[in-house]
Amino acid sequence: MQKQKNKFELVQMSPQNTNSVVIFDGDKCVVFDPWGHVDDWEKYFATCGARPVAIYATHGHPDHISAAAALATRFNIDWYMSHADLDQIEWGNGLLQYFKLPQLSPNDKKPINLSAGVCIILRDTKMQIIELPGHTRGGVGYYFPDYGVLVVGDTLFQESYGRTDLPGGDEQSLFQSIAKLYNMYLPDTTAVVHGHGMHTTIGLLKQKNAFFRN
Ligand SMILES: [Zn+2]
Repeated sequence: MQKQKNKFELVQMSPQNTNSVVIFDGDKCVVFDPWGHVDDWEKYFATCGARPVAIYATHGHPDHISAAAALATRFNIDWYMSHADLDQIEWGNGLLQYFKLPQLSPNDKKPINLSAGVCIILRDTKMQIIELPGHTRGGVGYYFPDYGVLVVGDTLFQESYGRTDLPGGDEQSLFQSIAKLYNMYLPDTTAVVHGHGMHTTIGLLKQKNAFFRN
């Protein structure tokens, strides 16, 4: 019997800023980079008729984790982020204040550490975790080989790359991380989801992003 494919959804939660990704498998889902307010996410899940079972962050900047700990607590689930970015959690509270979102605190539910490797999420969705330091020390990407989807956070964008002037940023590491992605030789049709802005493909990045090279 043909296996039913899971559904990927790109979500731009208010106030518009960051791309979050949700993967649905029946009435369960996994959330990547939950930006916005936990109450908005709760309404979203109720509308979708799905319950989150895990949360993953591409990195520790507040615009990628603003709802992570609160969601993890509310749904009694785990959230995952490289511990190399633990020091980023509070650092970015000024940004959350700017967006009128609740502040993050060291007493919030802590993420579980993650590192490079392949794991299975939901029932049978293969997920490769790729370490991508540079924009932050603990940045990671998520690749779904059965779906041709790559989530890269702020490592690179359609025509540029993530800033490296914030704490933990390092330009040389970032270029090495971009080369690592390039050297995966993923199919040109692979959908690439960036932390901000339009999603692209590997083929489009080869055409438009001068930094996406060996
Ligand atoms: Zn960032």
